[in-house]
Amino acid sequence: MDKFDIHGIGMTSQRTRERLIERLYEEGLSNARVLEAIRRTPRHLFIDEALSHRAYEDTALPIGHNQTISQPYIVARMTEWLLKGGPLDKVLEIGTGCGYQTAILAQVAERVFSVERIQALQDRAKERLAELNLRNIVFRYGDGWEGWNALAPYNGILVTAAAREVPQALLDQLADGGRMLIPVGEGEQQELRLIIRDGDQFQHHVLEAVRFVPLLPGALA
Ligand code: SAH
Repeated sequence: MDKFDIHGIGMTSQRTRERLIERLYEEGLSNARVLEAIRRTPRHLFIDEALSHRAYEDTALPIGHNQTISQPYIVARMTEWLLKGGPLDKVLEIGTGCGYQTAILAQVAERVFSVERIQALQDRAKERLAELNLRNIVFRYGDGWEGWNALAPYNGILVTAAAREVPQALLDQLADGGRMLIPVGEGEQQELRLIIRDGDQFQHHVLEAVRFVPLLPGALA
């Protein structure tokens, strides 16, 4: 039985979707579970209809409220790095946005906890992910700088907005042996970091240059 109930997409789009997977593969993404999750996820349902013809391009697109849906390449890359640490029981995502990264995580992790500061975006994401029958996600409206302490620790934390510095709360909420993927920096100067916790030690690895919207302070009233 297919996990998704929604089809409603013609053959042409199916080919476009396959091309995206091929392109990601050529770019060095090789984790079969991640590629399969991307193949199965109808990205056109996460953006405005006016832009849906561009849904399977490997590019970020606007989703309103000055925010974007992440580029498939970076969604795949971050998920792949997270999975390299072993099976993912609990994952914390900061920045639900339209919920596309959340959908990919929900297919490779047992449980996903996702925090967003713009209520309208999160409400819409919730609806979409329920329509897609992804039920292992819990949402929280709040400030990602604070993480979600009540449910910590997490063996994976994935931040989808660029932070000036790594939030201390997120480091504290990472399980021993857990991994965090986080863009750090401002404006055009951002690097994707992988942080691995080993007891009280945190190893930082710089992976690649990235471009995310900023991780803003505080939740919106
Ligand atoms: N994960 C999305 C991309 C999200 S864009 C995708 O798959 O496409 C970044 C998101 O982070 C935006 O929705 C923005 O509102 C949110 N964000 C920014 N600062 C935040 C904060 N302090 N706490 C929670 N969410 C935040």
